[in-house]
Amino acid sequence: MVKQPVADMDLRSSALGNGVSGKPPINRLYQTSTMAALLDAVYDGETTLDELLQHGNFGLGTFNSLDGEMIVTDGVVRQFRAEGLAAEVPGSLKTPFACVTYFEPEKNVTVDTPKDKESFEALVDQLLGNPNLFGAVRFTGLFERVDTRTVFCQCKPYPHMLEVVKKQPTFTMESVSGTMIGFRTPVYMQGVNVAGYHLHFLSEDHKRGGHVTEYKIVKGMLEVATISDLQVQLPRTKQFAQANLNPESLSEAIRIAEGG
Ligand SMILES: [Zn+2]
Repeated sequence: MVKQPVADMDLRSSALGNGVSGKPPINRLYQTSTMAALLDAVYDGETTLDELLQHGNFGLGTFNSLDGEMIVTDGVVRQFRAEGLAAEVPGSLKTPFACVTYFEPEKNVTVDTPKDKESFEALVDQLLGNPNLFGAVRFTGLFERVDTRTVFCQCKPYPHMLEVVKKQPTFTMESVSGTMIGFRTPVYMQGVNVAGYHLHFLSEDHKRGGHVTEYKIVKGMLEVATISDLQVQLPRTKQFAQANLNPESLSEAIRIAEGG
């Protein structure tokens, strides 16, 4: 596990900075590379986890060689590899795609009636309001069921993401407490990110989780914030230069690769 340096923790707790005078801005999305690049097998990036944590303490992504799913909670990076179990990761590890923010909830509501994916997303949409902004989402509570998947470490020459996800290991957890976090991306940003919801799960015991494909919540606390400030770090690698980032079937491919 990678923890934030103490100095950063202090900056965070002194909070609410706007990026001026070195304070990290809250609810600004920092993203490495693009979803379309990941889809086109650009699985190696140059951003280390230590660098990523300079830009946020909350988020998700994956690791170089597509070696598992990433979740970042409270400034700690965890890796779910093929078994869906959380692993410790050194800060020197790199990511080809990740999204983080310093999450500061703007709204929170107690959810006390069960909700499936559709009704949960409708509630978040309603809380976020503006459909043309990004949203950060955190739900902490009890789940009747969570389905997750993770991805295998890939060897070169890298296969296309759609080939990888055909073999993705999936897991179902029932009656599990935990945290589901992630982002809602506006439709017009498809390809830069994943249009719609992209959520990852971490069980309360910090042992299991992954990329969420389906779920039903029982009760808990929902927190959201709108995001209007983005920083996208595009790779200068040869792989990114040669990637096809605007294929005809982009939306369908992202739905298959990232959807439920
Ligand atoms: Zn994911």
